Amino acid sequence: ASTWANVEQGPPDAILGITEAYKKDTDPKKINLGVGAYRDDNGKPYVLNAVRKAEQKLLNDKLDKEYLPITGLASFTKEAGKLAFGADFISSNGGNIVISQSISGTGALRIGGSFLGRFYPHAKTIYVPTPTWGNHKAVFSDSGLGVAQYRYFDKNTNGLDFNGMKEDILNAPKNSIILLHACAHNPTGVDPTPAQWDDLSELLKERSHFAFFDMAYQGFASGDIDKDAYAVRKFASDGHQVILCQSFAKNMGLYGERAGAFSLITSNPKEKAAVESQIKILIRPMYSNPPVNGARIASLVLSDPALRSEWLSEVKDMANRIITMREKLQNHLVNDFQSKKSWNHITDQIGMFCFTGLAPDQVTIAPQNTFKAERLTRDFHVYLTKDGRISMAGVTSHNVKYLAEAIHEVTK
Ligand code: PLP
Repeated sequence: ASTWANVEQGPPDAILGITEAYKKDTDPKKINLGVGAYRDDNGKPYVLNAVRKAEQKLLNDKLDKEYLPITGLASFTKEAGKLAFGADFISSNGGNIVISQSISGTGALRIGGSFLGRFYPHAKTIYVPTPTWGNHKAVFSDSGLGVAQYRYFDKNTNGLDFNGMKEDILNAPKNSIILLHACAHNPTGVDPTPAQWDDLSELLKERSHFAFFDMAYQGFASGDIDKDAYAVRKFASDGHQVILCQSFAKNMGLYGERAGAFSLITSNPKEKAAVESQIKILIRPMYSNPPVNGARIASLVLSDPALRSEWLSEVKDMANRIITMREKLQNHLVNDFQSKKSWNHITDQIGMFCFTGLAPDQVTIAPQNTFKAERLTRDFHVYLTKDGRISMAGVTSHNVKYLAEAIHEVTK
């Protein structure tokens, strides 16, 4: 018998499978709202001008392709740290912060999970919000952590279940690890307000919980990288020894370059050196050292004043295009198609995603007994995840009215 005869067929990736189905669809009206990658108003992938210019400069510099150190490009990790924590915090606390380059945000989560799996001195269970990014559970359980959940999204309001969230965090055993989406929560588009973050910082302190931030969308929520860093900076300045996972996939459009950073705040330089040595021991057998190209691009964009300001305005433009599409979608639903629902949550939610509320609901769509999200795909060629999440980045001024009509048809 073959050595691999016992390997069972696994399920396809929930999100990448949607793109495959979309590609096969020949209807000209088809829309792909599955994948979380930014698109311009013509539905095309968008490479930022700041990135193109940085690439050109790097090409002209004719750099070599030597290996990076295990923890990556130092100029990049320094800039990444300043971007997230703020330059002031880094200048006064940099001596205590371990920062390593990572294989984008996912790789940073994996470093964090594995580090906690080896060294966290309390229960090795991480609490993630319900719902959360589909990959979190797999990353953390493959890292050797237990995964538990806390309440987050309120289906009745399509907003934050803040009381449920606080109650679950309060009731978790002391010293629990709590995963927090720093901004632009995926998949719901629902974030705590600054005042609620203040409460959460206090609550985690009270319970001696450990804050683990995933920040994959800095700048994408509000268009302002400082505003979107509120939670991380508040927790850091309140003295939480946070872990932070950063991605430059979305806010710099560097998806396939895999540029990201992992950081951890320690309490003194000796501790920092010890933690850093263990991070290196952890990374070395996984992939030896990270890819150089994306880190060079990001480092240059962040440190060159002209490129940086061009980048900041492009981040704002991307965020604003999404915000405009939210307004148009809601407006078409309510005014053109006279939907009886308010659809306010479309404009209240932020970031790349909108949790439409088109989740499985068999009662209202009998007799076909088909989910609304599935009907959108079957009858209207609109592709989205089964939980009703749509990527607003795939909505354009050309398809927004059609999308509104389709949503109206399956919800009236
Ligand atoms: N975390 C969240 C919440 C995400 O949505 C994503 C990407 O979709 C990531 C992390 C990691 O993305 P990447 O590994 O491409 O940086």
